[in-house]
Amino acid sequence: MSERAFYVTTPIYYISGNPHLGHAYTSIAADVLARYHRTQGDAFFLTGTDEHGGKVAAAAAAAGLHPAAWTDTLVPKWQALLARYDVQYDDFIRTTEPRHVEACVEVFERLKASGDVYLGTYEGWYCTNDETFWLESKLLDGRCPNPECRRQVQWLSEDDWFFALSKYRDRLLAYYRDHPRWVRPERAYNEMMATLEGGLDDLCISRLGLEWGVPLPGGGVMYVWLDALLNYITALDYTRGGVRFERYWPANVQLIGKEIARFHTIIWPAVLWALGLPAPELVFAHGWMTFEGEKMSKSLGNVVDPFAAAQRFGADTLRYFLLREAPFGSDFSFSEEKMRVRRNGDLGNDLGNLVKRSLAMLVRYRDGVVPASSEQSFGARFDGLGARVATALDALDFRAALETIWELVAALNRTIDERKPWELFKRGDGETLDAALYDLCEGLRWLAHLLTPFMPGTATMIWQQLGLGGTARGPWRDELVWGRLASGTRTNPSDAPLFPRMDAVVSATA
Ligand SMILES: [Zn+2]
Repeated sequence: MSERAFYVTTPIYYISGNPHLGHAYTSIAADVLARYHRTQGDAFFLTGTDEHGGKVAAAAAAAGLHPAAWTDTLVPKWQALLARYDVQYDDFIRTTEPRHVEACVEVFERLKASGDVYLGTYEGWYCTNDETFWLESKLLDGRCPNPECRRQVQWLSEDDWFFALSKYRDRLLAYYRDHPRWVRPERAYNEMMATLEGGLDDLCISRLGLEWGVPLPGGGVMYVWLDALLNYITALDYTRGGVRFERYWPANVQLIGKEIARFHTIIWPAVLWALGLPAPELVFAHGWMTFEGEKMSKSLGNVVDPFAAAQRFGADTLRYFLLREAPFGSDFSFSEEKMRVRRNGDLGNDLGNLVKRSLAMLVRYRDGVVPASSEQSFGARFDGLGARVATALDALDFRAALETIWELVAALNRTIDERKPWELFKRGDGETLDAALYDLCEGLRWLAHLLTPFMPGTATMIWQQLGLGGTARGPWRDELVWGRLASGTRTNPSDAPLFPRMDAVVSATA
């Protein structure tokens, strides 16, 4: 069974400020899927930055820089964040790159040719300062309602390009009914269904008055959201007939935050259909990250610095914690104390000690060399475990996947207590001792495979302590067969614990 090439995307990150832990969360989830599918066959993981729009231009102006120069200073911070969390993407697209800008213009021409883009008039009150159209009902005493602006507004009538979104409403409704799982979680699906049932207006896709964006023929720039959505296909060389596009579109999984679901599950499929392309297979809207139940915000002073957190706990502890603590799709309440509990419990006591004890006993009783064993009864009980983890990953149920892996961790810890290798050694029951030690080492080999997507650094350390070269790779259906670890393998255990105990600190954000 060879699976189709797998394509996963994160939203491109809007760089009007610095990255935070929420960005790491989305990227880690995408990375786990990509790493898993790479071991099974072929995967492509796209991420990047959304660099156009009025807000970026304004932030750049405030910093006294041209928007291009300003975004150049920020992009390395995003890339550093991904590196810090061991996020291994295949491509990083910036919407300011010529490959993207040129492709957007080409897409615009194709949409015009298809008849789904037409020239219309956008009419309304306009605040030049905010570059925003306001409905008359929103104005306060005839002035801009933005409390930080309140300037005089002017009546504006501008010729803009519109996308015939309303025309796709029936097709969208039918698609939603026929594909009840294409938008997840269910709450997001239901909200989008309700939006569709409420009706759709055509979408203005140009801004005549703006300059920082994809320049359109005849003047103005492309609406920043359309520009941003197109990254998912421009990075695959869609307009250039690229092999990447042939191979990877439609995307298997597009991860988004729930606040941008409408763009990805109503506008995006309609644009794709207008181009004659299929919609993505799954759009998954994860929840928001809060700090101990409160919204993270600069003014509350509770923004978790993702670089400091990784420095203190290590990338793998955060990767584990973020995906194990709450169901993906629900809001996530970050708490350093909860993370410390997971770190010292699941990772330190359960996994770290298992590796250390198992390999230490092997050194003590068998000079660190994996013995031969003909006993299969212990391993037989894990026959379906890899498939269960894979099923959970297919459903983006990272928590269930990790819980399933920890069944193996628990079973291995339990078998040490039950089989008591130290007593077998004392009794001189060599054959039973060999079987017990072999099972422990083989279990560790399985764990290295199973943990590779989630905690790549830890998985590699376990693999190398087992004395196996390189990293755990290969499809699980071939590798997760009990008894593949060769007897005679000389292990290479480390004295350093995988997860040193962490004590509480006074405050994470002070
Ligand atoms: Zn204003």
